[in-house]
Order: sequence, then C-alpha cells, then structure tokens
Amino acid sequence: MFENVTVAPPDPIFNIFSSYLKDESATKVNVGIGAYRTDEGKPWVLPVVRKVENMIVNSPDLDHEYLPLDGLKSFTDASAKLILGTNSPVILEKRYCAVQSISGTGAVRLGADFLKRFHDKTVYLPNPTWANHQSIFEDAGFTEILEYPYYNPKTKGLDINNLCDNLKAMKENSIVLFHACAHNPTGVDPKEEEWTQIAKIMKEKKLFPFFDCAYQGFASGSLDKDAWSVRHFVEQGFELLVAQSYSKNFGLYSERCGCLTVACQTPAKAEAVRTQLCKINRTVISTPPAFGARIVSKVLNDPELYKEWVSSLKEMAGRIKLMRRMLFDELINLGTPGNWNHIIDQIGMFTYTGLTKEQCLLIRDKFHVYMTESGRVSMAGLNTKNVKYFANSIDQVVR
Ligand code: PLP
Repeated sequence: MFENVTVAPPDPIFNIFSSYLKDESATKVNVGIGAYRTDEGKPWVLPVVRKVENMIVNSPDLDHEYLPLDGLKSFTDASAKLILGTNSPVILEKRYCAVQSISGTGAVRLGADFLKRFHDKTVYLPNPTWANHQSIFEDAGFTEILEYPYYNPKTKGLDINNLCDNLKAMKENSIVLFHACAHNPTGVDPKEEEWTQIAKIMKEKKLFPFFDCAYQGFASGSLDKDAWSVRHFVEQGFELLVAQSYSKNFGLYSERCGCLTVACQTPAKAEAVRTQLCKINRTVISTPPAFGARIVSKVLNDPELYKEWVSSLKEMAGRIKLMRRMLFDELINLGTPGNWNHIIDQIGMFTYTGLTKEQCLLIRDKFHVYMTESGRVSMAGLNTKNVKYFANSIDQVVR
C-alpha cells in the first residue's frame, strides 16, 4: 500500500525550532519561529485574554455545541469591521461576508480554494514571501504560481520599480497576493504612496488583490495604520479577499483563530460568496473551533476590553521596536562591517538581516543562534539579556 511513500522534507521553520529545543547550550537564542516572547524570553498570555478566558470558562452558559459553518457571527462581524474599518462603505452597505477559518493559514487556504473555483488559477506571490504561501496555492490546485519582485537585496528595501513593471505585464484577472502589513520575511512594507501606485496599476490591469493580514496592530502598534493598504484598495472600488490571523495580535497561536473577509460589489453577491465559503468549510473542517473566536469576539465587542487589548498590542510592538534599536546600536558600537540601517527601517516581527546561508549556519554551529537560512530574524526572540550576545555573534560571522 505505502510502498511509494517517502519521507517528506521537514518544515524549515518547525525544524529549526526542534533543533533549538534539543540544544543544551545556556546561551542559545531562538530567533527562528515568529512567536512573541517577553523580555524574559517567555510566551505571553495577554492579560485581557487571560481575563476573558476565565469569564468564558466560568460562565454557566458555556456549552460545546457546533458553531455554524461560517463560524461565530459576533466574531466574524467584528473581524470584518476591524480590518475594513467600522465606517467602510463595504460595511455600511453590507456588501461583505466574513467566514471563520483555521487561523491565518486556513484563511489563505479557504481563499485559495474559493478563487480557484470561481475566479482564476493564476496567482502571483511576492519574492520572497512566507514559506507556506507556495504550498498552500499548490495544494489548492493552482496551475500557475508565479512570483513578482518585491525585495531589493541591494537597498534592503522595496523593489518598487520592478514590482510595478511586473504588475503591468500580468494577464488580466490574475490574483496578486500582498501582505497587508509587516511583510514576512523581509519586514519591508510599501509606503502609502507606493500602495497608491500599486492599486492604480492593479485597477488599470484588472488584477485581483488577495491580502494576507497576519499582523494587524502588531506592526506599528496601530490597528488602523496596519490596515491602511486594505482600506485603500476598498476605497478604490476593488473587490478583494483578506485573510486575517489572530495568532500574533492576540497571542492565540494554538487556538487557530482566523477569518476570511471578502469585500463584494453587492449584498446579494456577498451572500452568494458566503454560502460557497460555507460549502468549502463543510468538506474541509465542517465547523470552526469556538474557543479562540469567543475570546476575540468578547474583546472586539467590548470597549473596555478593547482598550486593554490595544495597550497590550502597543506594548508588544514597542518591545520589538526597542529590540531593533538595541540591536542596531550594538552593531554600530562594535563597528560591524556593513550597513545596518535596515534593522531600524524594517517593520513588524521580522528583520531580513542580509546574512548569507553560510553565515546563518555558522552562527547556529558556533553561537547556538537559531534563525532561518534566509537570514530572517524574529525580533521577538531578542531581549535585553541576549541582544548583546546576538549582536556579537553577528559581528563575528560577518567579519
Ligand atoms: N501569513 C503570514 C504572512 C504569516 O507570517 C503567518 C504566520 O506566520 C500566517 C499567515 C499564518 O499564521 P497562523 O496560521 O498561525 O494564523
């Protein structure tokens, strides 16, 4: 039966994590996986999440009945408002649908499954992009998975001219995947005027935007600022998909809480799309899990809890910004060869250091520092106790 089954290659990120766990060095540093850590290097359950968790668990009304196919309505409604903005014309005119998914990954997959059935089988992904995008679209059955230039290694910034030229050459209806904010792995986002330029070309060329939003509020500390790209496209009249994740901004990694929000031209179309998404959910997951959605719903729908959440978001974003600054200062003090401005210019959880694969392997072997071979560093893995050691390790491998 299984004669042809060979061992699948390990997932690069989870593999680095398990090597890190096995390493017995007292000075080891994990900057591989994109999960927030406190200054003590510990996972953080947001105080508002802990509070709401207790409320839910202790409620006499708690049951474990199935959710509807499209999930918890108070959650999905709030999720659509969070990304599109309460006063978005799409929200006011009720021409959207929002369907709960298995976190951000599941939302991207749900969107891909839907687009393959009803739109087009050509998708363009940024180069580079989150490692999972390619596999998700492959498994969803896309026939053309292409890339567009995004990152310029010379400037360690956005390759805007090449990006725009490539958009102009794409065939009509192609799906173009964007990271709404805090691009993973580069930490490089288009500026507002660059998004405007991108949207203009997308409109002229009749291209279809699919936003992956895994870091709303986490990038800049402002939920509105991090949603600017999506809202701009909506203002320009686009129909679009947005995959939302609550892993990072609520710290709900294992609860698999996400949502796919779709902006449509009419309420009737939105309802049709919703039913098709329900149909896909039915065969893949049947109904989504409730716990994470209950937590997020309570927080997004209660002004006091919402305020507490925003203050924790600011704290996480602020700590990461501080780590950028401290790492940059350490490298400058050491006189480490090279230009390190990108560390403070990039945004969100990740820094694309520019270290080569060889340097990344060397830093692992010699200094017990675990990062992906692309040179991506999860800034959340740094803290006031290990940032100096980390900077020293970089200094040594680049000399
Ligand atoms: N999309 C991007 C760009 C990501 O970086 C991530 C997580 O790292 C995700 C989606 C999905 O995250 P999750 O499935 O944990 O919500």
